[in-house]
Amino acid sequence: MQETTSGDSVTGVDLQMHSIWEQTSWLEADLVVIGGGLIGISTAIEYIEQHPGRRVIVLERGFVPTGASTRNAGFACFGSVSEIASDIDLMGNDAAREIVQQRVEGLQRLRARCKGADIGYTDDGGHEIFVEDHPALRRIDEVNSCIVTVFGNDAFAVRNDLVRTYNLHESVHTLIRTPYEATVDSGKLVRTLWLIALRAGVDIRTGAEVLNTEEHAGGVEVTVRTMTADVRLRCNDVVVSTNAWIPDLVPSTLIPSIKPGRGQVLVTKPIQDLRLRGSFHFDEGFYYFRRLGDRVLLGGGRNLDFAGESTTSHETTPRVQEALEKLLRTVILPDYDTIEIEYRWSGTMAFTENKQPFVQRVQPHTVVAFGCNGMGVALSSTIATNAAGILG
Ligand SMILES: Cc1cc2nc3c(=O)[nH]c(=O)nc-3n(C[C@H](O)[C@H](O)[C@H](O)COP(=O)(O)OP(=O)(O)OC[C@H]3O[C@@H](n4cnc5c(N)ncnc54)[C@H](O)[C@@H]3O)c2cc1C
Repeated sequence: MQETTSGDSVTGVDLQMHSIWEQTSWLEADLVVIGGGLIGISTAIEYIEQHPGRRVIVLERGFVPTGASTRNAGFACFGSVSEIASDIDLMGNDAAREIVQQRVEGLQRLRARCKGADIGYTDDGGHEIFVEDHPALRRIDEVNSCIVTVFGNDAFAVRNDLVRTYNLHESVHTLIRTPYEATVDSGKLVRTLWLIALRAGVDIRTGAEVLNTEEHAGGVEVTVRTMTADVRLRCNDVVVSTNAWIPDLVPSTLIPSIKPGRGQVLVTKPIQDLRLRGSFHFDEGFYYFRRLGDRVLLGGGRNLDFAGESTTSHETTPRVQEALEKLLRTVILPDYDTIEIEYRWSGTMAFTENKQPFVQRVQPHTVVAFGCNGMGVALSSTIATNAAGILG
């Protein structure tokens, strides 16, 4: 042990001593990306495509990426009427349109990147349902005209006829549809991106938890905890794309405040004669459900306990899971007697107060990239493009 490790000024870190071969071929890079979710892996791809031959290492602490990207619902969405109306109130017309534009462009970029690969892309449209009166119902025209330049025509239309088509409960009095929303298989999507990155020459190291980064003149030292030892990588630039865990690595003075938000999800067993199609938003986006093969995926309920769900813990709770099941049985699948749940999980979102993405060089060699605010399938590619642009 004494021969292979050396003490370090950073508390609790016991660095492994390395051979010259390990040091030069495995522990040095032009760019280290921390976090292998949608933003991290897309940034690595963008960067290496712009700089073929440069060395890029992605460090992911999980065996698979374990934040939001492989635990989400897979909506390729740009915002529902109530969400965009609320964005108009928060940030004004121009900024609300701009963020929709960024999501749409991000999705185009993502699809182009994954062209030819099976990412489970299904364009059955997106829907928002209402069981009570809501101010957003009187703002459909306003939202359509706010984003008309993005799509070239109205994105949203009331289609109450679909309530019966989809076999939703009759308490759903208004259903708004957009043809521009789609769904993906999030597992296939992230795996496809990892394979694209590997093929482009990116190194991906899993089980590699970054403990800290330290800026020096000319570069950054990245200390990593692995199963066998603590190691230190040297690189010219680092991108921190760990989403809800960014505050663990970047001083709070350099970034906007980030609040974690747990999203709990369930998936049913296969259901015969399922008539639901596409993706659905409910209760201002606090609940979301979709068809997944012949199953239903349903998530949300964070608004039942904002304080309790502001956590990075990946547990599920009876309170939220019971609320999800009730919604499933009463509103989504009212005509089905036996519905069994096969999967339950949770993932971690990260929220900023202004709901804007944050992509900035916060120190001479450190770029921070995050800010999907719970809607990152589409936006992550735009954030990655911007991050790669800043790296130069
Ligand atoms: C339940 C749920 C449902 C969602 N549904 C949708 C949806 O339908 N549509 C949509 O557009 N968006 C959805 N989202 C949001 C979307 O998934 C996220 O916005 C997006 O995946 C964020 O990507 P990211 O790369 O920033 O973060 P993440 O995917 O969280 O990636 C961060 C990565 O960093 C790793 N990491 C953390 N700390 C360290 C460290 N110290 N060292 C190394 N690695 C580290 C984590 O393991 C993780 O893999 C949902 C999110 C959740 C949780």
